Amino acid sequence: ARGLTKVYRMGEVEVHALRGVDLDLHGGELVVLLGPSGSGKSTLLNILGGLDVPTAGQVWYHGEDLTAAGARALTRFRRTHVGFVFQFYNLIPSLTARENVALVTDIAEAPMTPEEALALVGLGERLDHFPAQLSGGEQQRVAIARAVAKRPAVLLCDEPTGALDSPTGVRVLEVIERVNAELGTTTVVITHNADIARMAHRVLRMADGRIASSEANPTRTPARELSW
Ligand code: ATP
Ligand code: MG
Repeated sequence: ARGLTKVYRMGEVEVHALRGVDLDLHGGELVVLLGPSGSGKSTLLNILGGLDVPTAGQVWYHGEDLTAAGARALTRFRRTHVGFVFQFYNLIPSLTARENVALVTDIAEAPMTPEEALALVGLGERLDHFPAQLSGGEQQRVAIARAVAKRPAVLLCDEPTGALDSPTGVRVLEVIERVNAELGTTTVVITHNADIARMAHRVLRMADGRIASSEANPTRTPARELSW
């Protein structure tokens, strides 16, 4: 990302959510994004994943300027290459765990089977459970399975543990770490949970629409460097 700015206009009021963000994400990295409420974390994540567009600046993916590529190309990028996980799991209540994941594997090009994806998140024994029959942490793990079953290059998680108690949240973060390590998925996690900082390869701190610091974790190196 280069020079990303985002200005939300609400009538007379302008909110400068991003004020010039430059960021390089490397293949296979697990990056944690910290920062106070309103500092622009979700705005940045949504723009990186093609859910939103910047007011100025560009997002490049493997040499392609996505911001110049048009809406159709951006949609294709998002559907093919990006998996999202949000605070609320957004599972379909009338579908089982397996069926929730199958919704995505049906449209992907080289997906895992729902069984493989659910086994990866430790839910191989919960295939036919409905969301209401699963704990919050298990529901979030189904959401992670759904996000990664299409084998996206990039996994973007916006406060995936925000609705969970701390031990359950740690288990969910460990699942994200496993996905990163086993699939080599480049991963960005917004969290207020300090436990993930020790799992991350790099910790970014945002303040007032800017990246205030980027700190590599000397005890962790990416499991698998993808070639660019
Ligand atoms: P939190 O930790 O509370 O989730 P955040 O760091 O994710 O905060 P953002 O959601 O990116 O922050 O918001 C950054 C700023 O942009 C805030 O001042 C917010 O009010 C504003 N903002 C975000 N989305 C919109 C929108 N759709 N319309 C108008 N203003 C918005
Ligand atoms: Mg947010």
